[in-house]
Amino acid sequence: MEHPCLRCGACCAHYRVAFHWSEAEPDLGGVVPPELAEKLDPHRLAMRGTQASRPRCVALEGTVGTAARCGIYPRRPSVCREVAPSWEFGAASPQCDRARLAHGLAPLTPEDWAAPRLAS
Ligand code: SF4
Ligand code: SF4
Repeated sequence: MEHPCLRCGACCAHYRVAFHWSEAEPDLGGVVPPELAEKLDPHRLAMRGTQASRPRCVALEGTVGTAARCGIYPRRPSVCREVAPSWEFGAASPQCDRARLAHGLAPLTPEDWAAPRLAS
């Protein structure tokens, strides 16, 4: 089963992605590429592109709703790791549902996580 997020990407093109500046500071263990972030306030950075009126994270590759992936997946900010896709772990995720609806995509259902049946 292909992970549903790989056919989506909606949350990466809906929310402002803000996080503490230290996450992009290598000397403090930060892993987010600093050049992909911009200053939001004295304490926070935001991923470039996510403060636009029609947000799209600069690290998002592909087409929302068709084939999308994070280009810095192992180095993405903590907030990105905290967005749970609906029903992956047995519960709906309002953040996921809102982003998908905003892009004209139906919210995920438990069936989206079902393993494909083998032909008999
Ligand atoms: S909106 Fe939901 S399904 Fe889409 S990429 Fe984000 S977490 Fe995954
Ligand atoms: S860093 Fe990756 S996971 Fe986070 S919003 Fe951007 S594309 Fe999405």
